[in-house]
Amino acid sequence: TLSGKTAIVTGSNSGIGLGVAIELARAGASVVINSYTDRKEDHALAEELQRDHSGTSGATVRYIKADMSDAAECRALIEKAGACDILVNNAGIQHVAVVEDFPVDKWNAILAINLSSAFHTTAMALPMMRESGWGRIVNIASAHGLTASPFKSAYVAAKHGVVGLTKTVALETAGQGITCNAVCPGYVLTPLVEAQIPDQMKTHKMDRETVIRDVMLQRQPSRQFATTAQIGGTVAFLCSAAAEQITGTTISVDGGWTAL
Ligand code: NAD
Repeated sequence: TLSGKTAIVTGSNSGIGLGVAIELARAGASVVINSYTDRKEDHALAEELQRDHSGTSGATVRYIKADMSDAAECRALIEKAGACDILVNNAGIQHVAVVEDFPVDKWNAILAINLSSAFHTTAMALPMMRESGWGRIVNIASAHGLTASPFKSAYVAAKHGVVGLTKTVALETAGQGITCNAVCPGYVLTPLVEAQIPDQMKTHKMDRETVIRDVMLQRQPSRQFATTAQIGGTVAFLCSAAAEQITGTTISVDGGWTAL
């Protein structure tokens, strides 16, 4: 159980981050969810998670706004949370273009959100973790942290960078009760991916199952999506006692993608 622990999950008002927040709340942690917006729905989502998943443990779920493209806001997120036993760096964006046409502002935004944010939050969280003698940092990288695809230069570079940062932080914290690992998902069924299915069905004149198997999951040998709950479960495992000596490594949740 993670009761008494505070977990901060960046970029967690949807998709994988939300799945991770739910699993950590279910395991008893108090959770801070985050994105760059500050809408009523964001705070309502935190209330809903607390009601539905925290049970009677007394654990809380709070929403704190912070833009992960901004170094100062990344650092302020950890300060505002007031505690950080578990840090999950999940916020991420994508842009697809050939290198010579890749927009500079997109390159900079992807590097800032997908890579540098993890540096800033980690730098702020480590002193708190060292003081308590316990900490878990889990970076949500990608199969693209281990292998490449064309047209995704910024994303692939940032995710490889995340894996490098993960190893370095693991070495700097080894033996201190703190671990740092990366989870590398393949294709995960998030609302974003789900929304692409109807269009793909039309374009390819295929039914749902065929478009998923033969078009979307063509590189994922299982031909099945991973789920956000499975990514959340993997993060919860990395926070468990069984994972105490797992540090500086990657866990792929990719249906065999990187075994190819
Ligand atoms: P998503 O778009 O559903 O979620 C991204 C989250 O990040 C959202 O909550 C969004 O609000 C937040 N975010 C975006 N920009 C932000 C900013 N500037 N500041 C703060 N928050 C911001 O996408 P997802 O698929 O859930 O992706 C989550 C992570 O998982 C990303 O790092 C992504 O690269 C990685 N990933 C996703 C897949 C997949 O198939 N979906 C596969 C491998 C890795």
